[in-house]
Amino acid sequence: MARYTGPSCRLCRREGKKLFLKGDRCYSEKCALARRPFAPGQHGQGRAKTKEYGLMLREKQMTKRFYGLSESQFRKYFEMATKKDGVVGENLLILLETRLDNVVYRLGLAMSRAEARQLVRHAHFSVNGKKVNIPSYLVKAGDVIAVRENSRSSDKIKAVIEANASKPMPGWLEFNASAYEGKLVAMPTRADIDLPVEEHLIVELYSK
Ligand code: SF4
Repeated sequence: MARYTGPSCRLCRREGKKLFLKGDRCYSEKCALARRPFAPGQHGQGRAKTKEYGLMLREKQMTKRFYGLSESQFRKYFEMATKKDGVVGENLLILLETRLDNVVYRLGLAMSRAEARQLVRHAHFSVNGKKVNIPSYLVKAGDVIAVRENSRSSDKIKAVIEANASKPMPGWLEFNASAYEGKLVAMPTRADIDLPVEEHLIVELYSK
């Protein structure tokens, strides 16, 4: 299934939760979910369905949309999560969280995951000194993610770093703004991931 390319805010309204897909706008009063806190479409303000399957589906859709993934990409991460030791749902979130585009976003080098993905694709970053332009690249503990030398003069990147300077950094990452680089100091745990999802529902959905 192709990646969704329609209006981002519609996805938040569908899930009834902020997915923070549009950078600064998400924190402002212009947020569509704040202004219209009901599902989009003709029956959006009708009674919400709460059947078991519907709940599982919504958790999966929300998580997929939060990270901006297609169904097939998301399914692939689920399969990877089942092959790892530990709790499958937590493994899934940790895999998603350590994608390079997400790490770039969490480091404050982009205003949204969509922007982070575009910047990664345009080869603005290196991992351990080597150019990486693959948004799905999985970052490991100890890896150093840096803005590449040629990109450090970019007004856009400078502005984003400045805008995010006061935002809290997750405990599993550290960032040195003057060196234009960050480090994944330890793999994130479930407690570090602020996504309000009940991941066991995703596992149940895919296990049916
Ligand atoms: Fe979602 Fe951000 Fe749009 Fe608000 S502004 S509805 S959080 S994408």
